[in-house]
Amino acid sequence: MPEQVVNMRARGFICINAHPQGCANNVARQVDAAQREGRHAKITPETRVKNALILGGSTGYGLASRIAVAWGFQARTLGVFFERPPEDDRTATAGWYNTVALDRLAKRDKLFAAHINGDAFSDEVKREAVELIRREMAPIDLVVYSLASPRRVHPRTGETHNSVLKPIGAAYTNKTIDLSTRKVTEVTIAPASEKEIEDTVAVMGGEDWEMWVRLLEAEGLLAPGARTVAYSYIGPSLTWPVYRDGTIGRAKVDLENAAARLDALLQKKIGGHAWVAVNKAVVTQASAAIPVVPLYMSLLFRVMGEKKTDEDTAAQMRRLFFEILAGKMPALDEARRIRVDDREMREDVQNEVAALWPQVNTENLSTISGYATFERGFRNLFGFEVDGVDYSLPAETDLRW
Ligand code: NAD
Repeated sequence: MPEQVVNMRARGFICINAHPQGCANNVARQVDAAQREGRHAKITPETRVKNALILGGSTGYGLASRIAVAWGFQARTLGVFFERPPEDDRTATAGWYNTVALDRLAKRDKLFAAHINGDAFSDEVKREAVELIRREMAPIDLVVYSLASPRRVHPRTGETHNSVLKPIGAAYTNKTIDLSTRKVTEVTIAPASEKEIEDTVAVMGGEDWEMWVRLLEAEGLLAPGARTVAYSYIGPSLTWPVYRDGTIGRAKVDLENAAARLDALLQKKIGGHAWVAVNKAVVTQASAAIPVVPLYMSLLFRVMGEKKTDEDTAAQMRRLFFEILAGKMPALDEARRIRVDDREMREDVQNEVAALWPQVNTENLSTISGYATFERGFRNLFGFEVDGVDYSLPAETDLRW
């Protein structure tokens, strides 16, 4: 059993190790909050989640969704994710340790929690999930689709699609933060080729979500009235060239189109629904990798923090499941999306961020932006700088559920 002192090892926007105790504390804090707030959820017997499948349930919005429904509603959950186990003295990924911690707390609280670590895009993992659900869980009344991946091997063609974060049509230049040097620099991103656009849609668009939901429906594993939700982002116009109007935005439009098709199918077959929920910008492994967005988030956290309207990943998902989805039908926007980003997109918030944007530079980064909040949030994702952990002590890293 290797015990070792684990110090953070980062390379730009990616951290290559994780601290098991820090991850465990993060999960425990989310569990406590879900238990506390879940009691006040205004759910009805029809909207109380009983059996949930969470795709991408080990980190970020997927983990937060899983914890919200498991501890808020005592739902039985199956989490599917793609994480690296520990090996010799190499730590596992954060999502692995998050799941170890979640599993322990679920056992403590006598909650059913099953996990599949593998490629959710593959037929094998889909088959494994179907068998497990049929054997131990059916019928499923909630499917959360929260995958964020740089690539997908297509199950029919065998082709590997790599997603890119690029503008479409013209190059885009704006400010960004170099996370390794804390410098505000300018970045120019060349426009994507047609092939890159198609590849990004293949990875982050709606095809795989549709495959999952259609499979579960065809196998008779969805409960009457079952719901499915996939996550998206819109954000401010200053990031649109690289987000909403860029390759990832094309993929999100594809996701919205899939939602419309799935909604029609589920309404017809089981009286269910499919929605896209547009969430707020929060620090996750996926969002930290997008150019320009970390600098925008730093300003956003400052502005929303001052207004006391900021929510972290877990708080967003508690609001989604305990309030917005508690009733029979959630409020939808003109494109039939659920908006959990309403506080981020408020006019006063966006005006203040837009006013700070031209001013922010390396020198004033720590005074006019909430970069410290962003940076700590980033380190927290991997279990570092988490309250209540003594990082000078050796930690057991060979942990499994
Ligand atoms: P994340 O990186 O924290 O989580 C990604 C999850 O996907 C992890 O559980 C990972 O294990 C899993 N995963 C990746 N590839 C996989 C594969 N091949 N098979 C199985 N699992 C795989 O990301 P996140 O930021 O929580 O993103 C989740 C969704 O939320 C995305 O659709 C993203 O666009 C959306 N979203 C994010 C933000 C934000 O600010 N972070 C805002 C709005 C919407």
